[in-house]
Parts: sequence; C-alpha cells; structure tokens
Amino acid sequence: MSPAPRTGRRGLDLGTLQQAIARTFGARDRARGMDGTFRRLVEEIGEVANALRRGDRRALALELSDVLAWTVSVAVLGGVDLARVARRYGAGCPRCGTSPCRCPQDWTSAAARGDRRVSDSVGRAGAGTAPGGRAGRPATGRRGAASRARATRR
Ligand SMILES: [Zn+2]
Repeated sequence: MSPAPRTGRRGLDLGTLQQAIARTFGARDRARGMDGTFRRLVEEIGEVANALRRGDRRALALELSDVLAWTVSVAVLGGVDLARVARRYGAGCPRCGTSPCRCPQDWTSAAARGDRRVSDSVGRAGAGTAPGGRAGRPATGRRGAASRARATRR
C-alpha cells in the first residue's frame, strides 16, 4: 500500500478525488453494491437537510463532503469518470452554453429526460461495465452489509 497523496491547501481535482475514493473505499463499496452505496448517498443528503435545518455551517460543510464522497463512490461503481462528465458544466450552462445561464426556466426537467451530452459521456466512461452502465451486484445480503458499513462509518 502506498501512502495517501498529499492534498495540499488548494483542494483536490475531481480525478484525484475519484482515484482516492476508489483506492480507499472501492473494495468496500463493491462488496456493499450499488443499491446500498446509493442508499448511503441519499442518507447523507438527508444529513445535509438536517444541517441546513439547524443552521449549522460546520456540519453543512462536513455533510456536503460526505455527499461528494458517496457521489464519487456511486460513480466508481457505475464506471463513470466524474472529471470527464463534470466538464459539461465547466464552460457554462450545458443547455444554453452561456454563463450565467440564460435558459428561460430551470432545465433540470430537460436533463432528467436525458441530455444527449451526458448520456454520451456516461456511455464512454462506462465502457467496462455491463450494458446499461450497471456494476455487478454482490451476492452478500445488502441489509447486513449496510449495517456493517454504518457501524464502521464506511
Ligand atoms: Zn442555460
């Protein structure tokens, strides 16, 4: 095992973060499976809601970092290169191409119907996974795995 890379003060780029999450939690995430890992992501989003309700900014920061880490875990399991797909937001709105966005309304409903650019990106990044981009599911009991994961934080 090599030591964890130094992160410095500037923060991690997404690719480095994804490598770190895969190295640190990949085996455990694979054992838990996509369903259990996604459920943990949703639970962390609930904890963000709690932090917002309490007005606790420190907790908000911590919970958002957990949401990001679990999002990366889901990406690793799904064979998605987050640094690649995140580029679609780097040069402005993926729909109208401007920054700030000039779309006439919130475009999330359009994204939910399937934005061609993100679909293509997922297809390329997930080339090593089964059709549909789904990672293999573990044979272990998901409930037991989730309980163990909660007891050990990850
Ligand atoms: Zn827009």
